[in-house]
Amino acid sequence: MNQELQLLEEIISLNQDEDPLLKMQLLSEVQYKNQTYPIYSFIIGNPDPTLPTLGLFGGVHGLERVGTQVVLQFLKSFLSELKWNQVLRESLKHYRIVSIPLINPVGMTHLRRSNGRGVDLMRNAPVDSLPGKKYQIYRGHKISPLLPWFRGYGEMETEARALSYFVEKEMFPSKVALSIDFHSGFGMKDRLWYPYAKTKEDFPFVNEAKNISSLLNRTHAHHIYHIEPQSDSYTTHGDLWDYLFDRHQETFFKQSKNIFIPWTLEMGSWIWLKKNPWQIFKRDGVFNPLVKHRESRTMRRHFVLIDFFSKIVRNPEAWSQSNLLK
Ligand SMILES: [Zn+2]
Repeated sequence: MNQELQLLEEIISLNQDEDPLLKMQLLSEVQYKNQTYPIYSFIIGNPDPTLPTLGLFGGVHGLERVGTQVVLQFLKSFLSELKWNQVLRESLKHYRIVSIPLINPVGMTHLRRSNGRGVDLMRNAPVDSLPGKKYQIYRGHKISPLLPWFRGYGEMETEARALSYFVEKEMFPSKVALSIDFHSGFGMKDRLWYPYAKTKEDFPFVNEAKNISSLLNRTHAHHIYHIEPQSDSYTTHGDLWDYLFDRHQETFFKQSKNIFIPWTLEMGSWIWLKKNPWQIFKRDGVFNPLVKHRESRTMRRHFVLIDFFSKIVRNPEAWSQSNLLK
């Protein structure tokens, strides 16, 4: 078993006492080489899915262990606080945090980006990107599962379906829902991306995303995030968050003007590589900080971001009307 799955199951066993503000579930299971791997979900706070909801997701790409670690360390600390902090418990009657910390347990156990069937889960949704200038394989392809960025066999994979099911059930009905999906690998900076991945055109909540960005700038003047639409870095096919965002627009936004904005944090791992170049020779060394103190610093720094998002999801009037914060 990989160390993240171990920590995840440790967190579950530490929180077995009945608590109306906590629901942990075995959401789905994936088979690989005669072994079964669990996908767990957490719902913390009021179970009513119409209340403001913050979603925290990690481990879509098996090699990017640090994303899962950030979510797990946050959950561990948050759940331990939930046992004694009455102020926190009171506030959680009015909002909720939902999470799948490890979406691709097979990939993480076997040190591969894709799932067990060679599918890149973040290229697996039925969404096509607008044609690029030339054929770029990293944008997603249907050539072979032996190559990275394979889009799959025509249907959504078990892991992708589990994620979609959970988000549609627990986040779509919310008046306001924001999610952060934790990744690592691209570039020197920590990039906080809002949709779309499929096109350079603005997504419908671009003003809201920019308002959130300026609130972050004002509230945490020294934050380290580079905030931009994902398509500024590259466009891809099959992005699960594009797919879920568009589905939400067609259903819950149309019916009740619910807001759902999925964000992606791409932790820039090249900085870890620059400080410790030898780690390039380790298979997961390109995607994770391998030195202990660097790892702790990564955890701490992103807790501030999670805390900020848990506040803005409860204060939509501060950012959800266009032009409010000019
Ligand atoms: Zn990734």
